[in-house]
Amino acid sequence: MEERSDCIFCQIADGKIKSNILYQDNEVVAFPDINPLAPVHILIIPREHITSLAEMSEKDVLLIGGMAKAANQLAKSKGIAENGYRLVINCGREGGQGVAHLHMHLLGGRQLGSKLG
Ligand code: AMP
Ligand code: ZN
Repeated sequence: MEERSDCIFCQIADGKIKSNILYQDNEVVAFPDINPLAPVHILIIPREHITSLAEMSEKDVLLIGGMAKAANQLAKSKGIAENGYRLVINCGREGGQGVAHLHMHLLGGRQLGSKLG
């Protein structure tokens, strides 16, 4: 399990930076976004430092499925599964990625806008 000491999300996954961990298993960790854009805004990350979706390899296919599964469970536990929610992965500079550790946003709890871009 690779970790980067200069990566904020690696440090959260490793417990070196305190966060309210909402879900974790051997591969995946989830915690609230520090700047929530919706009543529910959770980040789901792999424990392994993968810089972005562009850096995923064949072995990460199941891992990313595991992130979606965690999001699904979190949506149920937060009570937003029925009304609906959005999963977003920003990739790279033009994709709007600000933190260079792969993460999935789970957004919900209000009517989200129809525009993605
Ligand atoms: P992105 O723009 O897709 O890279 O999203 C990065 C997200 O990480 C933003 O929504 C930030 O608010 C969030 N973020 C940055 N630092 C932290 C932190 N220490 N704990 C929780 N969320 C963070
Ligand atoms: Zn990292």
